[in-house]
Amino acid sequence: MNESLATQTDPAPTTGAPGVPAAAAGATRAAAPAVRADRPLPAREPPRTLLDVPLDELPLPEGAPAYRRAQLVDWLYVKAAADPRAMTSLPLAMREWLAAEHVLDPFESVRRFPSRDGSVRYLFTLRDGQRTEAVYMPYPGRRTVCVSSMVGCPAGCAFCATGALGFGRNLTRGEIVGQVLAVARHEGIEPRSVRNLVLMGMGEALLNYREALAAIRTLIDPRALAMSPRRITVSTVGLPSRIRRLADEGLPLVLAVSLHAPDDETRRRIIPTALANPVAEIVEAMRYWRERVGRRVTIEYTLLAGVNDSDEQARELADLVRGLGAHVNLIPFNPWSGSGFEQSSRRRTESFKAVLERRGVSVSVRFSRGRDAGGACGQLALRGARAV
Ligand code: SF4
Repeated sequence: MNESLATQTDPAPTTGAPGVPAAAAGATRAAAPAVRADRPLPAREPPRTLLDVPLDELPLPEGAPAYRRAQLVDWLYVKAAADPRAMTSLPLAMREWLAAEHVLDPFESVRRFPSRDGSVRYLFTLRDGQRTEAVYMPYPGRRTVCVSSMVGCPAGCAFCATGALGFGRNLTRGEIVGQVLAVARHEGIEPRSVRNLVLMGMGEALLNYREALAAIRTLIDPRALAMSPRRITVSTVGLPSRIRRLADEGLPLVLAVSLHAPDDETRRRIIPTALANPVAEIVEAMRYWRERVGRRVTIEYTLLAGVNDSDEQARELADLVRGLGAHVNLIPFNPWSGSGFEQSSRRRTESFKAVLERRGVSVSVRFSRGRDAGGACGQLALRGARAV
């Protein structure tokens, strides 16, 4: 099986030049991403922080009793403390040792962009100067954070601002979990009150498999954020072997597959790197997920005017997912300058949805939040890149 994106190697967390990837400077859709997963940037270790250290291996000063480690875990993850001076239950000498010897916060700076709809977009500058994003979405009775798994993205989806940034580097587990902690800190909420997490920001999480999975394992650890895996959604552009591998991990996660087209030709136009991943193989992987994990898959489908939004394509999609028990999320395209795509009209969207419903497909329309606060994923970083 020849899966694209392209060799599906897990590039060890790699870095490009400091700042947002060079491909982003003045990036428009006409300029293809300069870096792809099959041609990774030269490996360079990103700065590591205490959040990158497995909980059981957190360092202690010489002679400190082991229970200090549990206290440190509590300060780092339950209380989201990024400053050792705040860790008042630790001896002063240990606080000074932490401040002198270790970096606790993976972010150089955090910028907050509140939206009128109540969501807040976050732009993080990492320790090596690269940028990534997250979104905080408070709903009545639940709090959701959408985090990134990469700086930029090698998938290069033609409608996506992040795709236009090209691939910067993989995020480390600490940089992924750190987004939730930073959001909690800045929103003045307890990290554990964030009950829902979606790995749907910048990047293809399954291409950063090792670090993304390590982050998930930290998020669900009862000593850390104690999240339920059933409330963690992993989004993928559709990498069959990685979907199967994740299904075999024994975690009841939610899988969201960005299909965007019911046929290979249209899909290739939207996701150029999908070339070697036939839709039929992705559907088979989704079937495997359902059987192995026992949970239905969500299909993400961004509607692009005149590209993938006809009634005929809706019928094809319905035929494709029949028997899968999948839920289809129709996502109105969030236009951005240089994308070359337009949003489907409301009438077209309703018609597409009605065709699916008539064929018994579970479907909803999902509007992305925070549009007035930086637009869709990648647009904050893209704008930042253009500004530098
Ligand atoms: Fe990457 Fe997702 Fe954007 Fe595609 S839509 S380029 S997978 S961030």
